Amino acid sequence: MNKPSRLLADLISIPSVNPVAVGFEDPKITGEERMAKYIADFARKCGADVSFRYEMPKRPTVVCRLTARGAKRTVAFGPHTDTVSVANMTIDPFQPVVKNGRMYGRGACDTKGSCAAMLWAFKRAADENLASKTKTNIIFIGLMGEESGNDGVVCYCKNEPRLDFVIVGEPTFPHVVYTHKGAFWFKVTTVGKSAHGSNPHLGDNAIHHMVEAADYLRGHYAPSLQKLRHPVLGHPTLNIGQIRGGAQVNIVPDHCEMYVDHRTLPKLQAHAQIARTIAGGLLRRKIRAKIETYRDCPPLGTNPKLALVQRFHGAALSVNRRSQLTGVAYFTDASIFARYGSPSIVFGPGDIAQAHTKDEWIDLSHLDPASEACYRFLASPGSRE
Ligand SMILES: [Zn+2]
Repeated sequence: MNKPSRLLADLISIPSVNPVAVGFEDPKITGEERMAKYIADFARKCGADVSFRYEMPKRPTVVCRLTARGAKRTVAFGPHTDTVSVANMTIDPFQPVVKNGRMYGRGACDTKGSCAAMLWAFKRAADENLASKTKTNIIFIGLMGEESGNDGVVCYCKNEPRLDFVIVGEPTFPHVVYTHKGAFWFKVTTVGKSAHGSNPHLGDNAIHHMVEAADYLRGHYAPSLQKLRHPVLGHPTLNIGQIRGGAQVNIVPDHCEMYVDHRTLPKLQAHAQIARTIAGGLLRRKIRAKIETYRDCPPLGTNPKLALVQRFHGAALSVNRRSQLTGVAYFTDASIFARYGSPSIVFGPGDIAQAHTKDEWIDLSHLDPASEACYRFLASPGSRE
């Protein structure tokens, strides 16, 4: 087994399930602290300065720095260290097993594979003193809390200086992602008045109001999105994911909630404006429903012509000729970095199709080239400008 894959096996065997995403804390498997400490030990052995940012008890983001005197720029790797739940998995989540060129385990592709590839590139950069040689501060940020709402990256960006370039780790291999959709999640609430089910005229049915609100979203608002089109990402989408209302069949419901997942496009849609448009559309139709945003992840629209983006893509192409500069539909920590002024892209070994699955695995043939691309980016002649 080569080195990044040995590192990945270690990372898989360290449970780091996101307690918020799964809705409970089990000290044996939840929290990012064990994983952050392992990364810290590894980075200290490389000679890095290490610090922890405890965003929540037992849930740190780990920051490992190779600093250069007179640095001209700071670049960072930013994979996340938390994973989704291990419930209903058909494999042992924390026992890495290699079979047919794949390594199995929770987080193998989302995103412990990226952690291993990037950490290995970080170690090689340290061994070769690349920070000083290229006058570049090189940072590895093991972000907590990605799977439950990007908590780690938000806290990091609020408290740390902006970065010149960030490579967020997600399974995109061999491609480099410079644009992705945003996620605008909102809750629609309707209220009414309860009454006995045998006398509905005495009440006011909150579910009926919600049906009207859903009709508006599907019949009027969603079709209007077809006018918007991004050359790489296509159209925005809207999905009603959950409805909750009513207590019992024979009671007129006085309360109903609906949860909507709207995936949005960079530059063409501002989330605050979307909320106003929908609220206005409901009001004009006299539909009594309230809109509240509960997750607001902006789209990513990094300029693909930026020198550092081009340089990273050059490194990715040098290890895999199929590599494209492209876009994806899902959102990542990259758009949060970008929102706070740090240009970001997404890259890492693996395929998103295996993320969050019952038998999560990663194609091991991605691991070395992904790590090599990260290393070549740091070592490339352009970094000496
Ligand atoms: Zn994920």
